[in-house]
Amino acid sequence: MYKIKEIFKSIQGEGFFTGKDALFVRFSGCNLWNGIIKDRKNSICNFCDTDFRGVDGPFGGSYSLKDLIFTVEKIWNLKFTVGTKFIILTGGEPLLQVDKKLLQALKKKNFFIALETNGTINTNLKFDWTCVSPKENAEWNLKTGDELKIVYPQYRFDLNRVLKLKFKYFFLQPKENMNKQINIQKTINYCSSHKPWFPSFQIHKALGIS
Ligand code: SF4
Repeated sequence: MYKIKEIFKSIQGEGFFTGKDALFVRFSGCNLWNGIIKDRKNSICNFCDTDFRGVDGPFGGSYSLKDLIFTVEKIWNLKFTVGTKFIILTGGEPLLQVDKKLLQALKKKNFFIALETNGTINTNLKFDWTCVSPKENAEWNLKTGDELKIVYPQYRFDLNRVLKLKFKYFFLQPKENMNKQINIQKTINYCSSHKPWFPSFQIHKALGIS
């Protein structure tokens, strides 16, 4: 069974596909934080702003493969009429649960499958698009993909060395915390003088959507 926090239609608000209609499947659970607010400051990843705990969100639940495919197809067909069938597998950490059978079933339904992962889990699974967002206090094992997105600042990363990794695009995304405005300015300053780093802003939050 796949434990799913929520399934929803929105636009991709960050990174390479910003502005694109997408169906999000948020897998429950993460290996870097238990999702309980009081424990966040002592967790390996201590700046998470995502509720991935449990299965109680819209269309959340414990799904068999068949039921999950049925549900994503149903939501896609309800909400979208044109364009690429674009699905984003996110979390939490989706690689704790995503498997070959799920990818094959989504492919059969002609989905373009994007993954958003924290990069701690290496994988041979084939996605159409892989976005890795490593965390400075965690092991980083998945070091290739399409898009690398580093929440900024995380000073333990050597951003010059990181550019040698096999990614097509390199994004810095301001960290969401009390210093958000400062982080935005730091991100802009760094990117403006260190190409190909490019800023990624969470447009969906500015628009007030999920
Ligand atoms: S790795 Fe991602 S989902 Fe997990 S706690 Fe950090 S930001 Fe949240």
